[in-house]
Amino acid sequence: MDKPLKILFATPEAVPFAKTGGLADVAGALPKYLQPLGCEVVLIMPYYRMVKRSGLPIQYLGEEIEVPLREEALRAEVYQSQLEPNIMVYFIGRDEFFDREYLYSTPKGDYFDNAERFVFFTRAVLRLARHIGFSPDLIHHHEWQTGLIPAYLKSIYENDPFFAHTATVFTIHNIAYQGLFKKEKFPLTGLPSEMYNPEGVEFWERINLMKAGIVYADVINTVSQKYSEEIQSPEYGYGLEGILRKRNADLYGILNGVDYQEWDPAHDSHLIARYDLRDLSGKQECKRDLLKEFGLPAALEKVPLLGMISRLADQKGFDLLAEILDQLFSFDLGFVLLGTGEQKYHDLFQQVAQKYPQKAGIRIAYDDRLAHKIEAGADLFLMPSKYEPCGLNQIYSLKYGTIPVVRATGGLDDTITHYDPSKGTGNGFKFARYDAKEFLNQIKTAIVFYAQPEHWTKLVRNAMNSDFSWHRSAEAYLQLYRRAIEKRKGSI
Ligand code: ADP
Repeated sequence: MDKPLKILFATPEAVPFAKTGGLADVAGALPKYLQPLGCEVVLIMPYYRMVKRSGLPIQYLGEEIEVPLREEALRAEVYQSQLEPNIMVYFIGRDEFFDREYLYSTPKGDYFDNAERFVFFTRAVLRLARHIGFSPDLIHHHEWQTGLIPAYLKSIYENDPFFAHTATVFTIHNIAYQGLFKKEKFPLTGLPSEMYNPEGVEFWERINLMKAGIVYADVINTVSQKYSEEIQSPEYGYGLEGILRKRNADLYGILNGVDYQEWDPAHDSHLIARYDLRDLSGKQECKRDLLKEFGLPAALEKVPLLGMISRLADQKGFDLLAEILDQLFSFDLGFVLLGTGEQKYHDLFQQVAQKYPQKAGIRIAYDDRLAHKIEAGADLFLMPSKYEPCGLNQIYSLKYGTIPVVRATGGLDDTITHYDPSKGTGNGFKFARYDAKEFLNQIKTAIVFYAQPEHWTKLVRNAMNSDFSWHRSAEAYLQLYRRAIEKRKGSI
């Protein structure tokens, strides 16, 4: 057997230690699926307050490393845990930077010293790799917080034998968050001044850490094929479309997998009843239970129940929903929503709850248990996103036989195929233009099919048979790693 590929994961968050979004799920799950494919994975992330208080078994190694920042050498404490036996996780500790209530920003905005915090983290990752003697074949780094890694490998560490063969893969999970800082912060990075130019880390007289990753990584990917194409256009690229087009030959898309141990109605402990394709009767029980949970009339059991679980943010298409609410509630249906986020949407949905108490159930909260109940108890799942790098909820919905109605963007477009009644193919309903009428039309279409059991059974079957397990994605990442390593060697 070949010797294992040594992969270093540098990530600002990972489940189960700290999470703000889908990135944490990827960083926490992917290493487990890479290991059986012959990879030795070591993960490094910051030692946040959230990690400290997680109650997970984490050990202080009694060691410190020195990390250069500006003219100083700052100390970082090293902590250790495991994702699974044989998957080591190291944490970079420095209370001044990471012992805070939030990871990146408070409700009032970003922390003022995010540049210092994540330059420090990035430099610490490379120092720590050497400290623990882990000379990686490849560093897989995520989001702007770690964007500088290949810039360091191509400058400060260029002739360092320890990283002589280290290739890099940079994953963009959401290009809207770029790590933009004033140009005066550039010296903080310790990078040679030549790198501060429009072909490097400069972005309109500021520094852009995500751009550093895009410019210098051997290979780049996003979390769906469609999103990797979309971000090369001005509408989705947030100013980085030009540089992405330039690197187009090295830009890939790999869908995130989902954790079917966590999200499968056949053994979901959050549900009142479990079900699978052979016996769907449990789904009806889950619907009754969900209506009860929201205090909605039991009679809604007979009509389509629409579900949403989401961050309440502009990205998710709530302005389209707001436009069609009154028409929607003129139909015979129920609606449940679980989410938190921007105040304007909290207000909007509180009003909906008051205006349509017999049809709408609203819960402004983050509640994992209720998320499972909605996935199981709803008939349709709505995701009219403006953009969606991958999206997880539509994939969970498929497994629960809850039919997604989505906008054809990013991962939504890659995972949902429009139902074709003549062939009986497809697992959901899609609309292309970001337009409220189109959204409403697809909801109406779905409702028409809901009333025709021969079609609905087919749709539910197709949905539940869709497979988005991590196995596929891990294989795809392994190929990407091989490509990056070849590229680093100069053989392609
Ligand atoms: P994003 O990462 O943009 O928020 P995704 O669909 O990729 O969107 O992932 C969202 C994840 O967060 C899913 O696992 C979803 O179930 C969960 N989630 C979002 N909002 C809530 C909430 N209010 N309560 C429980 N889970 C939520």
